[in-house]
Amino acid sequence: MKMFTPEVLADLNKQETPFYFYDLGLLEQTLNVCSAAANIYGFKVHYALKANFNEPILKAIAAKGFGADCVSGNEVKLALKTGFKNDEVVFAGVGKSDKEIQEALALDIFCFNVESVEELSIINELAAKQQKKARIAIRINPNVDAKTHQHITTGLEENKFGINTWELNDCVKILQEAKHLELVGIHFHVGSQVRDLDVFKSLCLRVNEFNNWFLDRGFDLKVLNVGGGLGVDYYHPDENAITDFDSYFKVFDQFLDRRKGQEVHFELGRALVAASGALLTKVLYIKKGIKKNFMILDAGMTELMRPVLYQAYHQIENLSKPRSSDQADGLKYDVVGPICESTDTFCKEVLLPVSERGDLIAIRTAGAYGEVMASRYNLREPITAVYHQ
Ligand SMILES: *Cc1c(COP(=O)(O)O)cnc(C)c1O
Repeated sequence: MKMFTPEVLADLNKQETPFYFYDLGLLEQTLNVCSAAANIYGFKVHYALKANFNEPILKAIAAKGFGADCVSGNEVKLALKTGFKNDEVVFAGVGKSDKEIQEALALDIFCFNVESVEELSIINELAAKQQKKARIAIRINPNVDAKTHQHITTGLEENKFGINTWELNDCVKILQEAKHLELVGIHFHVGSQVRDLDVFKSLCLRVNEFNNWFLDRGFDLKVLNVGGGLGVDYYHPDENAITDFDSYFKVFDQFLDRRKGQEVHFELGRALVAASGALLTKVLYIKKGIKKNFMILDAGMTELMRPVLYQAYHQIENLSKPRSSDQADGLKYDVVGPICESTDTFCKEVLLPVSERGDLIAIRTAGAYGEVMASRYNLREPITAVYHQ
């Protein structure tokens, strides 16, 4: 699949850079493939809004019947505004404020994913004030290693997320007495950009243990929420534009023991939106160092922070210079931004066609955790977005 057809390019060349470009056609295809794969097993997918909360994208995802996974009160409100149904909204996060909990209770969301023992009591108290019963799921820290970058690992005991196994007895005690809590399920999320499907097999085996543990204590759980984290191929944005959802869901079908009527919920962010987005930027200057060539762009870490934050790789393309087949006439560039920080580098030693001031550059697979993390540092212009069908 080719994202930048001559017609698209002609349009993009007219826009002021930097900006995010979203291919809504590719997004729609990705959503269709994911839905079809999940439907085979009756799995329910919630979209994790934090990956990208642009309204046209949320509307497209809501229209396909996905639920919403939110991590702030504002995300909950935006999800409802863009068409997600309140009884398909879940709310996670280690630090939900009282105000956020009260608002979500008033909006009758499906479920709070509770991340600490203390939070259980607080939600019970706040629900009592509204004379409501809050549906909750316990986010359990399964101690499964996601084998991904340490900064995006969440399911180990040393991470701040979730409730550790030795605290589950305390949770049960609270749940047996709390009149305003209804335990609907258990929730897990091991990390992000997980490419090794064996990680999800390990997760399934842990979920089975907890599912039985709760049954033994009289809780017949309605929902097993296994979170998100499915990774994408940052190295082949055109060849592998759509993640292999089939193999992913198959692992859960194979290894998760569901009792009759038990629902399985997923929370996917990156795998749904990453490939559809790219950061478009122009070359400002080419600077020759002693051993290096620097390509200085008009976009930097303020527009796309992932390389600086997680040493993340994004493929970089010069859209103004046709790619030669052997790249023999290319040059290696350290591709950097304009921000006053030495770490403001997208990638080092990138082989590109010989480039010049004014060339249009695409930084690919930037639809997830890209625009949402943009900042105004150095008093940069607010970032804008361009959408194509
Ligand atoms: C971030 C997050 C997700 C989505 O993660 P992806 O790696 O983007 O799929 C799902 N669930 C929770 C609780 C999260 O915090």
